[in-house]
Amino acid sequence: MKSGYRIFDTHTHIGHARHTGRVDTAEAMLRRMDSAGVERSLVIPFPVVDDWRAEHDLIGRAVLEHPDRLTGTACYHPYADAPEFREEVRRCRDKYGFRAVKLQPQYHGLNPYSTRSDFFFETALEFDMVAVCHTGSGLPFSLPSLLMMPARRFPALQIVVAHCGSAMFAHDAMVAAQFCPNIYLELSSLMPHHLTEVLADIPAERLMIGSDLPESLKTEIGKILSMEMPEEARRLILGGTARRLFLGETD
Ligand SMILES: [Zn+2]
Repeated sequence: MKSGYRIFDTHTHIGHARHTGRVDTAEAMLRRMDSAGVERSLVIPFPVVDDWRAEHDLIGRAVLEHPDRLTGTACYHPYADAPEFREEVRRCRDKYGFRAVKLQPQYHGLNPYSTRSDFFFETALEFDMVAVCHTGSGLPFSLPSLLMMPARRFPALQIVVAHCGSAMFAHDAMVAAQFCPNIYLELSSLMPHHLTEVLADIPAERLMIGSDLPESLKTEIGKILSMEMPEEARRLILGGTARRLFLGETD
């Protein structure tokens, strides 16, 4: 709880990142959450790892130990054939209760526009999981508007545009959200003036906070707390939208 708000950070990572050398643990994350007043975090594997299943197990154990604080996300390399991909996501769902699947087109080379990526979105839909998709760095496949295609092909699927296009493509993300009611925007890395535009056009019922990396956590929270907006919008962005989307809770 921070300033009276229940905060759900919808973009965090623990585990071992092969591409950056970054290592993080659930214990360190829980300490940071306590210090920043975060109630719950969506925990995602890093996008480039040595052992995908081991990273899922690490997050899964943390989720089982702290079910009131952590929610898990699967991220499996798309070079696996579709049945293997599906089986690993099913395992994460059944064993650990993971609620989302992450697509990282920057590192995974999967084009959301193409029906060749359908297996990813079909798997999320089959297991009633949210598709969280990185956008921004890593063009061309990380362009937010490409996600309009799976959003339309799978209207029952809920898609989160992570980083809302990472500032440079914030308007592209807003177009996607305007045309597709099943597209949500996660606001990490936007500058406050971008956020003003997002708030003017996209309902807060489809907006959520994310930190991505520990250094950004307090800044991302401070951004939402300090900006002028209706109190209900602030409550939804800080946690209400995410609790409904990932946990099915209405409050
Ligand atoms: Zn991230």
